[in-house]
Parts: sequence; structure tokens; C-alpha cells
Amino acid sequence: MLEICGRKIKNATKEYCRLGPPGYPLPCILAAGKEEGKTILITAQIHSGEYAGTPAVIRCAKEIDPQKAKGNILFFPCVNVTGFFQNSNAYVPEDHGNLNGNYPGNADSVSGRIAQFFVQEIFPHIDFVMDLHSGGNAEALTPCLFYPENTEEESLSIAKVLTIPYLIPSKSVRGESGYAGNVAGIPSLLLERGYANYCKEEWISEYQKDIFLCLHALGIYSYEEMEHKEKVILRKMIYQTAEEDGLWFPEITEGARVRKGDLLGRTEDFYGNLLQEYKAVEDGIVMYYTCGLRAAKGHSLVAYGLSESMEVV
Ligand SMILES: [Zn+2]
Repeated sequence: MLEICGRKIKNATKEYCRLGPPGYPLPCILAAGKEEGKTILITAQIHSGEYAGTPAVIRCAKEIDPQKAKGNILFFPCVNVTGFFQNSNAYVPEDHGNLNGNYPGNADSVSGRIAQFFVQEIFPHIDFVMDLHSGGNAEALTPCLFYPENTEEESLSIAKVLTIPYLIPSKSVRGESGYAGNVAGIPSLLLERGYANYCKEEWISEYQKDIFLCLHALGIYSYEEMEHKEKVILRKMIYQTAEEDGLWFPEITEGARVRKGDLLGRTEDFYGNLLQEYKAVEDGIVMYYTCGLRAAKGHSLVAYGLSESMEVV
């Protein structure tokens, strides 16, 4: 029996419903396994416009047979649902709140109440959190994931069995996954795949596979297609931001290897004059970069992991 938010879901059943803070009902699918086991929370689109995770979660929820499950699965296919329909860029449109930066939330805003709902109503039941992202509307990326340093051992043990090759430690305490892993002590992973508001089938199916691999590794659901591929931990990242407003012309692609001194991109003003050249400060590999034209002061341009910090696991 899964008891959550006043609902009781009998063993070996699945319920399609809505749960959330008052006035903000979120679509969710609750699956209670036939046998007792771990409980996992799987979320997508806490950042609206990061699409690939949403159909992956929906399809997995549909496919799961609770008769064959051991433990419980809470699927939330679209957390920032108003942002999704209003086409806001990642944030909750009612208050411009960032659900990957406002935890543990508060009662004063819609985004604060969503975060608070997860912390207070959901996290106490949860053994593992899997949060699916993509690059934003102008951010191309190569598949990578972030794991919280405070729950490194348990989080990494799951990360190692997924399809994503690059693993990045995170100290974040203000996002859903970061708060879960670094504050609440719940192992978690924040996955990144796809970008630019695309929702390609290949990304959806890779995310479906990651969900099933994760469920298998947690002992919740058996999955036959286990395979172990080499993973690389990037212990040191460089997050290059724009030093001033300008137009951005990148010279890199996602996954590209760069050498110290290589040009990452340049900015120009509206008259075509060069403003800045941004160069790699060390050898590394590009995880994500801004692929659009806008370089606003302080915003991310490129994130790359340093070659010297790579650890193959
Ligand atoms: Zn995101």
C-alpha cells in the first residue's frame, strides 16, 4: 500500500491523478508494486521547454505493470505545467521562479509552493529522485548528469548503469535534485539530454531506457537490457559566462574537445565590432554551450569539463 497526500494506492495498482500544492494540480501517475520495496520520484519539465523527459515519463508510466513491481514509482511528467503551456523559458511564469534554484520553497509564491509541496509532501516517502532536463531553448548539450556530492556513493552507483556518459558532481542545494541529495539525504540524479525545444524520438527513447535502467538498479522493476558502458566523471568544470552584453558567435559544438587557448567563441556589438574573444583556459570537453545569438552579461556561454579532472569509472 502506497499512502501519499491522503491517497491510498493498493498494492499492484496504478492511479492516474493530480497532486500538488493548493491551486496547482500536477499530473501524476502513482504505481504501487505488488511487493514492498523502494520508492522513486521521477520528474520532468521542472524547467518548461525541456521536453524529452515528458513523453519518456508518460510512456514508462503507461508501460509499467505494477503486478511486476517491487516498491513504488511516482511519475510527474510535467511539473512546471503553466510554464509549458505559456511557453515560458524554463521558469514558472506566475513569479518567474526557478524550480531548480528555489528549494526548499515557501508559501509566498506559486513556484515556492511547488517546491514546498515536494519537500514536505513527497520527499518523506522517497528513496531516490530522478529529475529529467534538457538544454534550454538556446543551449546545446551532450548527454550528461549531475549527482549530489553528499550522497555520492548511492547516487553514483545508479548513474554508472545509465546510458549517459558524463557524470558531474554537484554542490547544489537549491534545486529539486540538489536539495534532495545534498540537504535531505535522498540520493538523486539530474539528467540532461536534448536541447533547443526539440523533442526528438531518439532522446525520448534514451530517457525511457534510463528510467528502466534506474528502476532495475534500485530493485523496483526488472529490465533485461542491462549493459555497462564506460563513464567519465568530470570533477572540475569551467562555467564561462558573458562578461558584457553582446552578440555571441560560438566556435564549438557540444561534446567537442578543446585545447588550452582554443577560441570558444566571440562576442560583437550591434555594429559588428569585436567585443571579446573567449578562449579555453585548460584542455577540456564541452558539455553545453549557448547556441543562440544572445550573450547577456552574466549568462552562461560555455560549460566544459577539464581533461585533467577526468576519472573513468
Ligand atoms: Zn533544466
